[in-house]
Amino acid sequence: MGVKTYSRKADGGKALTANLNVEEFACSDGSDMILISQELTALLQKIRDHFGEPMEICSGYRTPAYNEKIGGAEKSQHLLGMAADIAIAGVSPLEIAQYAEFLQPASGGIGVYQTFTHVDVRAGRARWDNRSGTPKPVDGWSGYTETGTSEAELAVEWITKAGILKGNGAGDFLLDQPLTARRFAVLLYRYDRQRKKE
Ligand SMILES: [Zn+2]
Repeated sequence: MGVKTYSRKADGGKALTANLNVEEFACSDGSDMILISQELTALLQKIRDHFGEPMEICSGYRTPAYNEKIGGAEKSQHLLGMAADIAIAGVSPLEIAQYAEFLQPASGGIGVYQTFTHVDVRAGRARWDNRSGTPKPVDGWSGYTETGTSEAELAVEWITKAGILKGNGAGDFLLDQPLTARRFAVLLYRYDRQRKKE
């Protein structure tokens, strides 16, 4: 684990986790060098898996020049490749923060903004609320408990138990593979057939 250095040109398409690639963390100023923490990508993938929906990295690595230009904090974790501002369609920044709090209760940074959540993997702990446009320190983002099962998890359990989603036959349900029209048709067909049997 640690922070690795990548080249946008050479490594842009490289997968970091099941759903995240190098390019997504590139600085918005077009620079080639990208720093990315492996602890960060592991954390983001857990959040992505939990909500079961695509995650947008609004801002990942930032060069010092770009960070200054956008008025980022002087010691921003984005400069170290240890932070990401993320958003998931249909999930509020607060909900993302609450799940991130559950994953890293004693460390890292978690800030809630109007349209995204900042998460970082610093050794210390920082929590803030910036929904008003000004950062205000908060104690934490409690609200998520492990007993909560996400809708996506329930749906996957149902569709596999029902025998509608069968995967590749080797126990892999290919949950993160794109859905082709052919595959979608097969799922609908099985669902319809099963419904008629009942
Ligand atoms: Zn941020």
